[in-house]
Amino acid sequence: MNQVRVEVAIIGAGPVGSVAANLAARHGLSCALIDASTEVFVLPRAIHFDADIMRIFQFAGLAERIEPLARATTGGVHLGIDGEPIRRFRVRDEPGDLGWRPHYMFFQPELDALLRRAAASCPGVLTRFGWRCERVDEDDSAAVLSLSGPAGEYAELAAEYVIAADGATSPTRVQLGLELDSYGFEEPWIIIDAQVPAEDLGPDYTIMYCDPARPGTYVPGPGRHRRWEFMVLPGERGEELQTPQRARELVDSVTPWLDGVELDVGRTAVYRFHGLVASRWRAGRVFLAGDAAHQTPPFYGQGMCHGIRDVRNLLWKLAALRDDRSGPRLLDTYQAEREPHVRAIIEAAIANGRYICTLDREVAVERDVRLRERIEQGADVRSFREVIPGLSAGLLDSRDGSEANGLLFPQPRVAGDDGSPVLLDELLGDRFALISAVAIPDVPGCETWAAAVGGVVFELGSTLHDLDGTLERWFEAFDCVAALVRPDRYVFGVAESGIDIGALLRRSASTLSDIVEERG
Ligand SMILES: Cc1cc2nc3c(=O)[nH]c(=O)nc-3n(C[C@H](O)[C@H](O)[C@H](O)COP(=O)(O)OP(=O)(O)OC[C@H]3O[C@@H](n4cnc5c(N)ncnc54)[C@H](O)[C@@H]3O)c2cc1C
Repeated sequence: MNQVRVEVAIIGAGPVGSVAANLAARHGLSCALIDASTEVFVLPRAIHFDADIMRIFQFAGLAERIEPLARATTGGVHLGIDGEPIRRFRVRDEPGDLGWRPHYMFFQPELDALLRRAAASCPGVLTRFGWRCERVDEDDSAAVLSLSGPAGEYAELAAEYVIAADGATSPTRVQLGLELDSYGFEEPWIIIDAQVPAEDLGPDYTIMYCDPARPGTYVPGPGRHRRWEFMVLPGERGEELQTPQRARELVDSVTPWLDGVELDVGRTAVYRFHGLVASRWRAGRVFLAGDAAHQTPPFYGQGMCHGIRDVRNLLWKLAALRDDRSGPRLLDTYQAEREPHVRAIIEAAIANGRYICTLDREVAVERDVRLRERIEQGADVRSFREVIPGLSAGLLDSRDGSEANGLLFPQPRVAGDDGSPVLLDELLGDRFALISAVAIPDVPGCETWAAAVGGVVFELGSTLHDLDGTLERWFEAFDCVAALVRPDRYVFGVAESGIDIGALLRRSASTLSDIVEERG
């Protein structure tokens, strides 16, 4: 049998698998994107993503197409029993330090379809929609996927690496015997997606109604799309709430601004929100990503975002391996980097979920008093972004020290090749970058470093012109003059002075060389 062979096979063309295929193409990796279904999933699921996800779309060449489909919003607020704020997460509707607005709302089937189409049109991406992956086997040279086609045909596909982005029930995870750890958080909620008559009707920020009578959420979607979510109370059956009349009653209970206005309820679904993380994210050549690896209660709107961060992390490493700039041990940093990140956000979402979902009035009254005190003390979180940590492990500078290590590097507007403004990443490409605010002294090994890791060097004011001083302020805030930025824009490490730049490069070279020595 003729076997097609690719560098990366991706099982599942949900948002995570489709982004993975777009990223693979961006890195020049040949890939196959396989999905059992010819259509995208239509029930209501993700509605929100953050600036760092738009930055990933930008890297994949998709931001210009996605931005017009999304509504930028101004964060959110949690209301107590009396309908007054107990937490505020409000932000300004303008691009932040990552180059994009803090929050975007979107309609997932529309985004999923765009991502699939974009992947299918990329050179080097082979699509198999309507084909199910029945199992994955592995030998010394490749993973082999057994596929069944729409008319019952059988095919095999060989790949050096496999990304299993096959969703929450992940047949690949099950086949490989990779277990999920549960946080023991299980809450049933009904989701109501509706169209309102006008695009500007209703608040342009998310509202969480922390009402023990029935916790709920309002989310302004793009255009006329609005979402409401309500907890299914003990003793209720979710389906009872899904009739158009009950759905409307639920919406009316929290939405005085909709008084008398016609509401076109399009879709409803009942989900059990939970926190789950796979104990191992890799088996041999197969990596789990997205919902296959973890599931997050949607209180910060992060489930899909996690998955997109997963594949951003994985793809540049697979490309580094293909380019012989690293050895296979680099791939061990995937779970080491992504798991603590994912867990931190799941834990924050569950902590939120526990106080949002309380049905005990006394507990809720005490909660409102306590959280309002925090607002008064100014200790409240001001944006969701502050909940999202940097990297705490993996390919980071081994030297203790700067708080900048593991953070996302900012993305200001800089002067492009012809002097017109562009976002910084457009210059950085897909490489490691050393960005220095001072003239780089004649560092022995700088060129060797650049050649070895495929790195690129920028000097502020000379080869890089920051148009609004963001980078100078960043260096000042972290008390350093140069940063070594990874291909996924996380900071590897920083140098406190010009003469420390050589040591930073040597440390990065030795960290990488540990990995490079494993080559072949
Ligand atoms: C109510 C709700 C609200 C949410 N809100 C948000 C939010 O605001 N923001 C956010 O970031 N996330 C949110 N999420 C989470 C988000 O929807 C998911 O994390 C995301 O859709 C997962 O994407 P995925 O690509 O990993 O999996 P999926 O989208 O489930 O895709 C998996 C794909 O794999 C395919 N597949 C499965 N098995 C096979 C096989 N054997 N062979 C071939 N193909 C296969 C399936 O057909 C499917 O297309 C929410 C979820 C819910 C339920």
